Amino acid sequence: LGESLVGALARMAKATVVDDKVVLDCLNDVSRALLQADVRFETVRAVQASIRSAVNLQSLAAGTDRRRAIKHAVVDELRRMLDPAAGSGKPPCFVPRKGRKPASVVMFVGLQGSGKTTTCVKYADYHRRTGFSPALVCADTFRAGALDQLRQNAAKAGIPFYGSYTESDPVRVAVEGVDRFRNDQAAEGCDLIVVDTSGRHSQEAALLEEMRQLAEATRPDLVVLVMDASIGQAAFHQALAFKQSVEVGAVIVTKMDGHAKGGGALSAVAATKSPVIFIGTGEHIADLEAFDARSFVSRLLGMGYLPGFMDKIEDAMTMPMPMPPDQGQGLEQLLHELTTVKGASFTFTLRALYSLFRLVQSTGPLRHLVSFLPAGLLGDKGKQEEEGQQAKIKRYMTMMDSMSAAELDGADPMKMMMTKQQQSRINRVARGSGRPVSQVVELLEEHKRMAKMLSKFAPAHVKRPNNKHIK
Ligand code: GDP
Ligand code: MG
Repeated sequence: LGESLVGALARMAKATVVDDKVVLDCLNDVSRALLQADVRFETVRAVQASIRSAVNLQSLAAGTDRRRAIKHAVVDELRRMLDPAAGSGKPPCFVPRKGRKPASVVMFVGLQGSGKTTTCVKYADYHRRTGFSPALVCADTFRAGALDQLRQNAAKAGIPFYGSYTESDPVRVAVEGVDRFRNDQAAEGCDLIVVDTSGRHSQEAALLEEMRQLAEATRPDLVVLVMDASIGQAAFHQALAFKQSVEVGAVIVTKMDGHAKGGGALSAVAATKSPVIFIGTGEHIADLEAFDARSFVSRLLGMGYLPGFMDKIEDAMTMPMPMPPDQGQGLEQLLHELTTVKGASFTFTLRALYSLFRLVQSTGPLRHLVSFLPAGLLGDKGKQEEEGQQAKIKRYMTMMDSMSAAELDGADPMKMMMTKQQQSRINRVARGSGRPVSQVVELLEEHKRMAKMLSKFAPAHVKRPNNKHIK
């Protein structure tokens, strides 16, 4: 995915004049990325159409930066699609209020395994941390163990809980639970009641009927549809089915920590006309994040969660850069090589960095396009710094000339050269290139930083180094 967007950028950069064909090519690449992220075909078509009209070249005033316009249109359109209330003046969905009497009722629905029970507890705990007094009700009388699962998690989070081992009617349990937390003296102060429901897979009609009855009996202020991010193309129809039985008011997409890009979320929003309010990012209770359309869009486009990335794209796209076509080709090729992975893990060697340097040296204008990759190193801080950068690159290359093949091709040169036993390697390189040891270390650090950044472009199934802490 990363590749396709980079490809689109490279193609746009290549064109001296952005013409209709460039717009079309870019749109095709974006569409491909969206389809791969499980966005529905119909949705992709709609995005395409509205971007095309937003970037109507004829209507753009002379002097408007068209590349910028395209980029904005893509991002804006996707964000708009994720925000069904945009421009309507209405709030996107019901929001619980602290201290509200009677307590708000939020009911969770979704298929079995989607993460309802886990997310109910996360949601209740999220509100507890911000000053609410939440309570949990287990209306899943279908699955053995459902009650224990919710009870244990509730206890762990210190949240009051209601459920029954003997009652088999979910509607009755739910009504009793809501009633208890709304009216009992003991539950005084409770202002948010979260109802977990069953989600059996095989009997959809029965499940939907049960949800309808539950909603009728408990009159929830908000029904939250929980969806697994990996559900893919099935998301739209499933969300629609739930929406037809209960008034779904919000969506939570779970397992966003996995490989799925979550394009199904876009379909869920389209089907329910409700916003995504949170995403689940792990199995632990704190792994719930308020939904941020911007990060989500960048993830959809295949870039992972990389803060500021969109802005960087914007920079790269608005650089003045007419360049010979073969050089654009060179960049695409290079990015492809750099992000090619061996087996199941991503590697970016010093030799790859060397090729990148060589390319940057040989083709001036390309520097602009790759400027968003290696922070600072090939940065765009202005003409004055350009010479300093070129000198730095030259220095780095000299040091690499003093390295052995094993060092240049190693998967983790930093580790290879920086351990105590391996100090001699660093010293040898420093001596060989006539540079201080500190500069060799600097080169290794710079390389590591780039490797980390470039790993963002690796395919989703590939193990990436050191990206746990990158958000
Ligand atoms: P339910 O059947 O809809 O109630 O689903 P559960 O809450 O029992 O969750 C099913 C499985 O998904 C459990 O193993 C959860 O730990 C896991 N799960 C739920 N949410 C997430 C999430 O955001 N990330 C990950 N990695 N796992 C999750
Ligand atoms: Mg459950």
